[in-house]
Amino acid sequence: MDTIKYLLPDSEIPKAWYNIVADLPAPPPPPLHPGTGEPLTAAELEPLFAKELIAQEMSSEREIEIPAEVRQILAQWRPSPLYRARRLEKALGTPARIYYKYEGTSPSGSHKFNTALPQVYYNKAEGTKRITTETGAGQWGSALSIACSMFDIPCEVFMVKVSFSQKPYRKALMETFGGRCIASPSMDTEAGRAILAVDPECPGSLGIAISEAVEVAAKNPDTKYCLGSVLNHVLLHQTVIGLESMRQFELADDYPDVIIGCTGGGSNFAGIAFPFMGESLRGGRKAQIIAVEPSACPSLTKGRYAYDFGDTGKLTPLVKMHTLGSSFIPPAIHTGGLRYHGMAPLVSHVQELGLMESRSVGQKDVFRAGVAFAKAEGILPAPEASHAIAALLDEAIRCREEGVSKSLLVNLCGHGHFDMTAYMKHAAGEIEDYDYPAGEIAMALAGLPAVATQ
Ligand SMILES: *Cc1c(COP(=O)(O)O)cnc(C)c1O
Repeated sequence: MDTIKYLLPDSEIPKAWYNIVADLPAPPPPPLHPGTGEPLTAAELEPLFAKELIAQEMSSEREIEIPAEVRQILAQWRPSPLYRARRLEKALGTPARIYYKYEGTSPSGSHKFNTALPQVYYNKAEGTKRITTETGAGQWGSALSIACSMFDIPCEVFMVKVSFSQKPYRKALMETFGGRCIASPSMDTEAGRAILAVDPECPGSLGIAISEAVEVAAKNPDTKYCLGSVLNHVLLHQTVIGLESMRQFELADDYPDVIIGCTGGGSNFAGIAFPFMGESLRGGRKAQIIAVEPSACPSLTKGRYAYDFGDTGKLTPLVKMHTLGSSFIPPAIHTGGLRYHGMAPLVSHVQELGLMESRSVGQKDVFRAGVAFAKAEGILPAPEASHAIAALLDEAIRCREEGVSKSLLVNLCGHGHFDMTAYMKHAAGEIEDYDYPAGEIAMALAGLPAVATQ
């Protein structure tokens, strides 16, 4: 009755990413130019992104081929293992069959490397000389720094200040690979200076860090910007997770009844869920799909579905998504990767279509769930992933109480080895639950941009 591992050979690394747009009953609303309110053209995105990534962003092809060189590097840790969590099942006394797909085996320790690699690859091919980005918890900045070092491109990372202070080893990791890591808001950009002039103690947010990174790319023709979540092409690159899982469930002779992922910007969740969702959209089997977010930053469960900016400085296009308002600065919770005011437009759209559901959980339950999982399975989850685990435990216990044996799949999107400050706080009983910041969110939502189609 020990944990079982389902492995695939290198030849089973997917040859193409899966684009859910091809199978949706209605296309997602297009991104709009913030000045004109008109749908954005590819040319308008070219100052910021590599051309191939823009083409993927706008594509409705079902399959997009993964370049051979990218597949070769992916083979270092992919296909990633799928585990049957027999020890966790036993600890919970549940008749449920619990599976977890483990993305912590990547060089950077999370799913982020799945997209860092192709993003840097296409930029290198198109002659980009420098890449800028933002990072919340530091997972994305680490993944992009490693990928940039593989392709020999300088990398600049604006890291949300509260995480910069909580997680000094993330900065050290980025710098080891030659990345430059700057606490955001910074004095390097107009966007950063404007925030600091109003609030010198500002803890930062992903929305602010995005403004800084976009500004640097927009002002320098040889510099491009990369984003670690939210955009269609990022979600696309993460579908290797779900595509592999489908093959691994065949090995296990099982199929998930419930699929659970945590959501910050929505990429790891989409990565595991979209290939399964696509199968059901094409008339195949149907799983219940659940996104889990922090109650302190609840875009999917409490946000408004509206056109909004992706950043605080209002430099990005307008995208239709579940949003808490681009000026909302989430509380400084210990899960930096989930502190974003918006949600991926594709995930938002899919929720509007009724293809999935969402829940929120508080910080204390999150850390309790993470420790329970670690004790049973021996892997310490990233606090982000522990949001999904909290919902997984609820489902497994419900199965026990109702006496039903369901198959549950969770995406263990990263390990928590850089999150020990947070685990120490948990052990000392110092993790707090934040109330839902209703007042601040109402204020931020009142400032949503006026868009005719809204
Ligand atoms: C970045 C990150 C997240 C949140 O981003 P998504 O795009 O929602 O996946 C979640 N978990 C980990 C481990 C991360 O690094």
